[in-house]
Amino acid sequence: MATARNETKRGVLNKTTMTVHRRKPGAADVHTVCGHTYHVERGRLRLVDVTQFTEATDTSRCGTCFEEGGGY
Ligand SMILES: [Zn+2]
Repeated sequence: MATARNETKRGVLNKTTMTVHRRKPGAADVHTVCGHTYHVERGRLRLVDVTQFTEATDTSRCGTCFEEGGGY
């Protein structure tokens, strides 16, 4: 559980849709767990801390990457 939470903190922001995705653990790049950002330009993706970023801004989290949804 603690491990899953640590991994969840690393996210990838899609600046076009203002959605934060979970970064694929172990991936060298901005790959996401759901794969929705594979075809998105690199310049439109940004690595963020999911918890800090979603608390500070009005950003939504990807429902596929974050299966726990809005219950956090
Ligand atoms: Zn996603």
